[in-house]
Amino acid sequence: MANKVIPIVGGRRAPAPAFDGGALSDTRGRALPDLRISVTDRSNFRCVYCMPREVFDADHKFLPHAAILTFEEIARLARIFVGLGVQKIRLTGGEPLVRRGVDKLIALLSPLGADLTLTTNGSLLARQARALKDAGLNRITVSLDSLDEATFRAINDADYPVADVLKAIDVATGVGLAPIKVNMVVKRGVNDGEIVAMARHFRGSGHIVRFIEYMDVGSTNGWRMDEVVPSAEVVRRISEAFALEPLDPNYPGEVAERWRYRDGSGEIGVISSVTQAFCSSCNRLRLSTEGSLFTCLFAQSGHDLKSLLRGGASDDEIVNEIAAVWRARGDRYSEIRTAETAKQRKVEMSYIGG
Ligand code: SAM
Repeated sequence: MANKVIPIVGGRRAPAPAFDGGALSDTRGRALPDLRISVTDRSNFRCVYCMPREVFDADHKFLPHAAILTFEEIARLARIFVGLGVQKIRLTGGEPLVRRGVDKLIALLSPLGADLTLTTNGSLLARQARALKDAGLNRITVSLDSLDEATFRAINDADYPVADVLKAIDVATGVGLAPIKVNMVVKRGVNDGEIVAMARHFRGSGHIVRFIEYMDVGSTNGWRMDEVVPSAEVVRRISEAFALEPLDPNYPGEVAERWRYRDGSGEIGVISSVTQAFCSSCNRLRLSTEGSLFTCLFAQSGHDLKSLLRGGASDDEIVNEIAAVWRARGDRYSEIRTAETAKQRKVEMSYIGG
């Protein structure tokens, strides 16, 4: 179901109805504990499944600095969200660490008391890990799609070496950001031959590799169903090498399905947005780089908050708007995905935040 669009009346937005302070849940009864904030639409990688270089080339128009939310604007919104029940905030992008001074943003967010995490490609992490931790970052997720040099460079399309990401993981561990989640997007024919090697490498390290099904996010990656490696196949391939058994979720609605090595050498996760849609428990809201709310990773449009922020709206008016957006939410894209819906024009993940 498409989201209700907040009406614009005579060029001005009609004010949302006053929030009654009751429980905030959407049309399918989903609460709002989880906020993702995209701090930049830029990245120093051109991962082929996310920001293909043919599209995100030298002519691509990234957002000008004046259009993106300032750290103070982000912090104000985050405070309002925490007041509405958000418990977890993830900074992402684009590549969040290409935006200068992200540690300053973390220092502004840390006193809010939410679980504060960040997802990064790892390329700039080694030199920033200490400052991020000192500013109050609780946890980190590092994306790494292959341990094989040629495969990794072919995916990141920025000639970036595996060794530097592994070093960044070590540095982040050293400053106290462990255990680290390591995200591997699996694309058939590209890196699926690396699944077991990745499991083997991180087994026993305390870090948790999460194998993610390749998704039809955005409109530029040319997604095809036959390039998706179902999580069931990932689990089967790993268990042929190392015996696995299922683990209970850490909390209701956890996106990754957990498996542990029977010999006690750690755990892995699989994220199956394509083959086992988890829309019914999806409780994430995304705040884009320029301050729009997106209620689904596969959304076609968002809800502008920036003009409220910059138009002098009070906190109460912003609360009303957020509550109206969440209460109207009915998204369940992954449950209704077909080859046809995959062709729809959707917002890019680098813009709304992965
Ligand atoms: N630049 C950061 C990074 O590399 O982790 C944060 C942003 S990135 C968009 C967030 C996550 O989304 C990464 O783990 C990335 O691999 C994943 N991702 C991007 N496009 C995807 C796709 N089409 N299917 C599945 N995961 C994807």
